[in-house]
Amino acid sequence: PFELKGKTVFVAGHRGMVGSALLRRLAREGADLLTISRSEVDLRNQAAVDAWFAAKRPQAVFLAAAKVGGIVANNTLRAEFLYDNLAISTNVIQASHANGCEKLMFFGSSCIYPRLASQPLREDSMLTGPLEPTNEPYAIAKIAGIKMAEAYRSQYGSDFISVMPTNLYGPGDNYHPEYSHVVAGLIRRFHEAKVSGAGSVAMWGTGAPHREFLYVDDLADASIHLMKTYSSPELVNIGTGEDITIAELALMVAAAVGFRGEISFDTSRPDGTPRKLLDVSRLARLGWRAQTSLEEGIQLTYRAYLADNKWTAP
Ligand code: GDP
Repeated sequence: PFELKGKTVFVAGHRGMVGSALLRRLAREGADLLTISRSEVDLRNQAAVDAWFAAKRPQAVFLAAAKVGGIVANNTLRAEFLYDNLAISTNVIQASHANGCEKLMFFGSSCIYPRLASQPLREDSMLTGPLEPTNEPYAIAKIAGIKMAEAYRSQYGSDFISVMPTNLYGPGDNYHPEYSHVVAGLIRRFHEAKVSGAGSVAMWGTGAPHREFLYVDDLADASIHLMKTYSSPELVNIGTGEDITIAELALMVAAAVGFRGEISFDTSRPDGTPRKLLDVSRLARLGWRAQTSLEEGIQLTYRAYLADNKWTAP
């Protein structure tokens, strides 16, 4: 097993939803945590990343920095999603290699699997078919990151591993009205409709797509578990193994928020991939399963949203 205790551990992307959950979870591990602010080092800038790594030489790296967003962000900011994510991954993985990093975890995404791969999605279905077009740039960048981790392992013997989280939600999510993911988008719209007394809320698409949702603190817990115990070029999916339709999700979020009006569907908005459910049998064999139910996770997330005056200040 890989010890985190007493090691210098760099969390790339610590201001994001995943990185901040990793920091909360890592606080229990007795590691010496390193982070960098965006104003200090832009992870897309190779020279800046190289200089920082040469000075700090972290022993372990969680590569959770990424340009992320919901279906509209992915589909609109196509150049940024490809460029930023490729640059961040290549810079951090190469600098980790060049500066003696003992272990690195790369965070991919369930969108790396082919749009029509058989469900639940097994790790070995990567690169067996065409991707979902709305998030192809993001998926291509993430596949490149996975292949880098794999190549550095095979060529240099680096202990670099890759995990594929399913759709995530939780404290620290982005509530941008246009660019957020679905859970955050619905929390915000239902909350604002409740406050303003609006009778109806429109959600995007048909409501028919199926999605699996994992609470971000569960992802952090799984990640620490795998960082300590897993060493292999094979990907590991991280999810709950259960999915629901977007229409069912809307009812759950409306109930948690206390919105009692009508829910309509704006079918001018994209549905995206029809279904995205991970096969989590490898993760189960490795001794981990999700703890937070979707109901509970949505309640915790709504509470965090209400407390976050970045989004709810008057
Ligand atoms: P995806 O898994 O990459 O498609 O990510 P999203 O979280 O953005 O979207 C998941 C599904 O929720 C898609 O079918 C969307 O059309 C649907 N959806 C419904 N309402 C919303 C909303 O307000 N925001 C977002 N982002 N998606 C929504």
